[in-house]
Amino acid sequence: MATARKVIIVGSGPAGYTAAVYAARANLAPLMLTGIQAGGQLTLTTLVENYPGFVDGVQGPELMETMRKQAERFGTEMIAEDATSVDFGRRPFVVRAGDASYESDTVILATGATAKLLGLDAETKLMGRGVSTCATCDGFFFKDRNIMVVGGGDSAMEEALYLARLGRKVEVVHRRDSLRASKFMQDRARENPKIEFIWNSAVDDILDVQGGKVTAVRLKNLKTGALDERPVDGLFIAIGHRPNTEIVRGQIDLLPNDYVKVVPGTTQTSVPGVFAAGDVQDHVYRQAVTAAGTGCMAALEAERYLESPQPR
Ligand code: NAP
Repeated sequence: MATARKVIIVGSGPAGYTAAVYAARANLAPLMLTGIQAGGQLTLTTLVENYPGFVDGVQGPELMETMRKQAERFGTEMIAEDATSVDFGRRPFVVRAGDASYESDTVILATGATAKLLGLDAETKLMGRGVSTCATCDGFFFKDRNIMVVGGGDSAMEEALYLARLGRKVEVVHRRDSLRASKFMQDRARENPKIEFIWNSAVDDILDVQGGKVTAVRLKNLKTGALDERPVDGLFIAIGHRPNTEIVRGQIDLLPNDYVKVVPGTTQTSVPGVFAAGDVQDHVYRQAVTAAGTGCMAALEAERYLESPQPR
């Protein structure tokens, strides 16, 4: 094993790249395990209009490529591997990626969260072309249009309420006949005149893959089996997120919903020297700009930790 690093960053979304820029500019020579598919959730979107600094918006993949180049420019070493396990019980910490092991005095976790998907072929083909997992990011593109939201939890209600401010009509499709969402959120959604509910139904297919944009959704009534094609312009999948915390389970404290537990207002985890930034520790905001903000915080906190006199 080579000599221990000062900082290893695991993950390469806005949080990871921002942490890398700050750590590299602080002369900490960070090593980043970008993952085999670098760039995080923004690589699955098209136009991003709410990231500051881009008057006309920017394509998600292009934004991530720009961040990667910026991190590299200051000397971040990048390895296109997925981290497969960690050992935070010894110092320096160990991060493994396949057969390789890397030691480091600090680790910044920025592995993000993954939006759960329905598992339809059309869903991935039309992602960013009418299918979305983020109303705050993409709702604006559906002003005065017909929108459908899938899910029955608080996220689905929140997305529907947000989209009802923009769209002409919002149909919420749920697979059962009662919602999982909190009473408060349910009431708000039910009271909204623009929101309609379609019960006991699942998305069977999304059209039109050949045309390259969403024009309709085919629903299946789960009680009767009947199919119903409804014209919509946008489909928002809001069936939950899964934080990418498998590799740190048992090594640091997680919240009951599996997100990394951090000291409020910081990126410090339950293990001194291990920091968490971006969606892996944020089940509330989940925005590229908040991820970048916490990436900055993690790098500054890692720098301070390295300067502190505690034994390592
Ligand atoms: P969630 O509570 O797990 O709800 C997921 C919803 O999606 C459920 O209604 C579920 O149906 C449905 N679903 C799951 N897999 C599906 C599939 N394959 N096909 C169709 N439907 C599917 O997730 P969430 O809404 O993201 O909320 C996660 C946590 O964050 C919750 O604790 C929630 O309270 C919290 N949250 C709070 C707020 C707020 O208070 N403002 C906002 C967002 C989230 P079933 O009901 O049939 O299982």
